[in-house]
Amino acid sequence: MNRFNGGAAKRHRETKQRQIVLEAVQAHRDHPCAEQIYEDVCKIDDKISRGTVYRNLGCLAADKKIYHVRVPGADRYDSRTDSHYHIICMRCGTVEDVPLDYREDIDLTIAEMTGYTHLRHRVVFEGLCNKCLKAEAEQGR
Ligand SMILES: [Zn+2]
Ligand SMILES: [Zn+2]
Repeated sequence: MNRFNGGAAKRHRETKQRQIVLEAVQAHRDHPCAEQIYEDVCKIDDKISRGTVYRNLGCLAADKKIYHVRVPGADRYDSRTDSHYHIICMRCGTVEDVPLDYREDIDLTIAEMTGYTHLRHRVVFEGLCNKCLKAEAEQGR
């Protein structure tokens, strides 16, 4: 194999790996962490390294193909890329979307108040999910 073909083959493999990682994130609706994605990807490509999966998650988030959700505990990833809010259960770590429209008016207000541009905000609500609340109630019986 000459040098040119070697490079093309490597690029092809990198593109394929990125696609597998992207599809693994898109298969989820529950905001998986990087480790979950790594485990899913391993089932398709058992030669892929953890570092490659993590690096691809970073690239995909930078390209806005997926959304990086910063929550306490671990970094999560989301196939939804529009601005939206999240809620995390402080007991089990479940992360869900909050059915509340993104409040662009807050960005405009803050921009006016501070002179900052390119405003956006991220909100993670914290609470106890229904499942954990039920488990707690059963324990208390
Ligand atoms: Zn919970
Ligand atoms: Zn989300």
